[in-house]
Amino acid sequence: MKEGSGPKQKLSRRRLLQVSIAGAVVASTGVVASCMTSPPAARGTGTTPKRVARYQDSPNRGRRCGGCTHFLEPNGCEIVAGEISPNGWCRFHEPRPA
Ligand code: SF4
Repeated sequence: MKEGSGPKQKLSRRRLLQVSIAGAVVASTGVVASCMTSPPAARGTGTTPKRVARYQDSPNRGRRCGGCTHFLEPNGCEIVAGEISPNGWCRFHEPRPA
C-alpha cells in the first residue's frame, strides 16, 4: 500500500480540514466583532493639539469647521485632536469646494 493513502491517513486529512475551517470561522468572527465595537469618532482623527492649531469653539469671520474639508462628522477633524464643534475654527481651516 502506498504511504499516506490509507483509511487512517484520509481520516486525519478530513479532521485537519475541519479544524482549519473552524479556526477560520472563529478568526473572522473576532475581526467582525472588533470592527463593530470600535468607536467611529476614533477613526481618522487628528493628532495636532487644539492649542497648536489655535482652535476656538466659535467661527472666525464666517469660517467654521462645518464648512472645512478636514471636518469629520459628527465632531472630529483629520488634523486637530479631540472633540471638534461644527461651529469651531482653527488656523488650518480649508473651505470645502463649492
Ligand atoms: S477648521 Fe480646523 S479644526 Fe475645524 S475642521 Fe478645519 S482643520 Fe479641523
